[in-house]
Amino acid sequence: MGDTFQTIADRTATPEEAPRLARAVVDWLVTEGIVLAAAEPGWALGDDPAHPPGPHWQKAVDDARWGAPEGVAVYTERHVFYSNFHDGGPVAVTCPRCGAGVDSDDKATAALFSTAMDAWQATGEADIACPACAEPVPLTDWDWTDDHLAFVHLGFQFWNWPWLGEEFRARVAEFLPGHRTAFLPGKV
Ligand SMILES: [Zn+2]
Repeated sequence: MGDTFQTIADRTATPEEAPRLARAVVDWLVTEGIVLAAAEPGWALGDDPAHPPGPHWQKAVDDARWGAPEGVAVYTERHVFYSNFHDGGPVAVTCPRCGAGVDSDDKATAALFSTAMDAWQATGEADIACPACAEPVPLTDWDWTDDHLAFVHLGFQFWNWPWLGEEFRARVAEFLPGHRTAFLPGKV
């Protein structure tokens, strides 16, 4: 069967504001009874602590009938999130400056991005010169097909929850005003 995850990531949050924004979202989730206040290990993949589902977890999902959700892990430090639910087509990455699509399977491009990802994980900063317009673009600003990858400082990862409702995701985004969010569902 495997495990599924759905991540709501904030692509704009800075390292300084991430903990405060995370607290606001978690406080609201706890008030609504969607998760419990205390995060503990054993509710997510690996040892990361996660908030167990609360008595009203159903409020977050489209169809609660098949649900036996596990925890919600909250990340407030540099983290790469991915999605692997895209429709099987090639993954493209688009330059936010000129709008050119770049094939991320192309060897030279893949090498550029791979170097930048390593640098970003080490330092939190990395620019990639766009192959089309030559502008240096921060790694975090590139747009991926179906939000395939997100390099962020804030993310909420729901483990084995039924599909999160659109309205619920919009409510979460209200706590991140003016920020770009990404939704990354996947399976391990
Ligand atoms: Zn460009």
